Amino acid sequence: MDSRQLYQEMILEHNKKPRNWGMLGDATHKAEGLNPLCGDHIHLSLKLNGDQVEAVGFEGEACAICKASASMMTVAVKGKSKADAEQMVQEFRDMTTGKLDTAGPHHLGRLTVFSGVSELPTRVKCAILPWHTLHAAFAGSDTASTE
Ligand code: ZN
Repeated sequence: MDSRQLYQEMILEHNKKPRNWGMLGDATHKAEGLNPLCGDHIHLSLKLNGDQVEAVGFEGEACAICKASASMMTVAVKGKSKADAEQMVQEFRDMTTGKLDTAGPHHLGRLTVFSGVSELPTRVKCAILPWHTLHAAFAGSDTASTE
C-alpha cells in the first residue's frame, strides 16, 4: 500500500469510528478549537494525573481530515507526559507545514500519514486544529483558532 492509499484508509477508518469520542466527565483541562476557513469546531477534554495525560476525549463538527487527525491525536497522546505530548504538537505542526523531514528522527509514528497535507494548504489548518486545541488545553486557555 502506498502512502496516499494508507492516508485515505486511515482517514476513512477514523471517521467511521473516531477514537476517544465524547467529553470526559472528570476533565482537568478543556479547550475549544475553531477553524473558520473550513467550519471545523471541536471540543477537547483532558484528564491530567500529575504530568501525565491519563484520559482524553473530543467531540464536535469537523471535516474528515480534522476528525481523523483529532482521533489519531487522542490515541497518540494518551498515557504520555505533557512534555512528550507538547513535543508531538510541535513536530506535527512542523510536518504539516513542511518543516519536518519525516525521514529524520521524530516521535509521530503513524501520524506521518498526514505529511501529505503540507502540499494542500487549505487542508493544513484542518489537520493542525486538534493539535492547536491540545496546546491550548495544556496552556489553560479556552479557545484555539487557526485564524
Ligand atoms: Zn476541515
